[in-house]
Amino acid sequence: MPADRLTRVQAQLRPLGLDALLISTPPNIRYLTGMAASTGLMVVGVDACLLIVDFRYATVAREVTAGSAIEVHVSDGSVDAAAAVILRGPGISRIGVEGDHLSVARFNTLGMAIAGPGSERVSAASPELVSTARIVERLREIKDAAEVEILREAGRRISAVARHAREWIRPGVTEMEVAAAVDAAMRRAGFERPAFETIVASGSNGALPHARPTRRTLAEGEGVVLDFGGVYDGYCVDLTRTLHLGPMPADFRRMFDAVREAQAAAIRRVVPGVGPADIDRAAREVLEAHGFGEAFGHGTGHGLGLEVHESPRITQLAPAGEPVTEGMVFTIEPGAYVPGIGGVRIEDDVLVVRGGCELLTDVPIEL
Ligand code: ZN
Ligand code: ZN
Repeated sequence: MPADRLTRVQAQLRPLGLDALLISTPPNIRYLTGMAASTGLMVVGVDACLLIVDFRYATVAREVTAGSAIEVHVSDGSVDAAAAVILRGPGISRIGVEGDHLSVARFNTLGMAIAGPGSERVSAASPELVSTARIVERLREIKDAAEVEILREAGRRISAVARHAREWIRPGVTEMEVAAAVDAAMRRAGFERPAFETIVASGSNGALPHARPTRRTLAEGEGVVLDFGGVYDGYCVDLTRTLHLGPMPADFRRMFDAVREAQAAAIRRVVPGVGPADIDRAAREVLEAHGFGEAFGHGTGHGLGLEVHESPRITQLAPAGEPVTEGMVFTIEPGAYVPGIGGVRIEDDVLVVRGGCELLTDVPIEL
């Protein structure tokens, strides 16, 4: 794991007035240590770092941190209790926690445990737990060279899978059968698992942006939204194509062409320094011009990485002061959903590079 990931977290502690930071979110722990585990807790100090795991992860924790500045502590009981004992030490008065992820119950238990055994409540002299936001997530937004290589490879592989879509999407099969075929193809293509439950939304179901595959049978003359993603070496890619069984009727064609044009406009807008809201607006304006403004009710895209939905969010509400920068990877996926006609969504993954963006996915828009 590149050591600068940890040192860049440590460098933020003093400016935030923190003596230590507790990292409890599995993708953040993975980002900093390389360990993929469902539990574990990191105690990051200004110049030291401890990874606390239980016996299930002792071997892998030692392996991934060998030769690094991270010390492994194997706890007998809960990792929180072990952290509490360590954090009771002198000189620790303000401890950051990941406020977006830590539950209130765990926050309270940790506070009590740090205050000491037998304490009914946290005393004024106890170290204070402080909510922090997006310390590791902001680092994760900008992919380093190793991450970019994994995502490029994942993009190539998901594209290769998508090019077979016509073989699975045909009249007479159910949405569930299509989803099973897509998931099997992802496994064969080297993906560890689907990044989310594959969406196959046919006919009227296409008007539901997050439809789940049903036993509905695909029929000639209807559209099918196919949205699927895979996890490759821990990293997520995500792709959507909308197919039509037989020639598209005029109303469906209008919607399809509008979404295609909106997606192209948004991709053209991606350049370092532009705000996510501007990218979103580029797609939205095209759809509005074609009369589909009301039919596009979600954001234009989302960041990709160790999680399938991470920052940056490419939406109207994205903060103006946080432009996209080189190394960010996110989706561009405008859609239009009209009850009675169905839905169209087209999604590709882009990497922000100097002067524009590189498409990580490469599949004909019209399959
Ligand atoms: Zn998707
Ligand atoms: Zn997506």
